[in-house]
Amino acid sequence: MIIFGTKGYLYRLAILTLVCGRCGNPSAHTLSKRVTKFTLFFVPLFPLSTKYTTQCTFCGTEQKVTGEQAEQLRAQAAAGSGGQAYGQPRQQPYQS
Ligand SMILES: [Zn+2]
Repeated sequence: MIIFGTKGYLYRLAILTLVCGRCGNPSAHTLSKRVTKFTLFFVPLFPLSTKYTTQCTFCGTEQKVTGEQAEQLRAQAAAGSGGQAYGQPRQQPYQS
C-alpha cells in the first residue's frame, strides 16, 4: 500500500509597507511563499506548486504576485531595512 498526499509550507519572506489595493491604507504587508509538496509515506519529496502572495495586515486581503514580483519586493525590503541603499536617499528634505 502506497500512502501519498500533499503538504503545504508557508514561508514568510519579508514585511513591506505598501499601499493596499483594497483598503487604500499604506500598511504593512507580509510577503509569503506557499509551497505545496508531494509526499510519499508522509515524506515530502518535491514541490508541486509555489505561490507568492502579499497580505495586507490592515484588512487581511491577500493578493497573488508572481515569483518575479516577489523577488523585487524582497529586494526592496532588504534595501529599505538594510540602511545601505544605493544612490540618493529618498525623501530628502528640500533646502533652498
Ligand atoms: Zn488592505
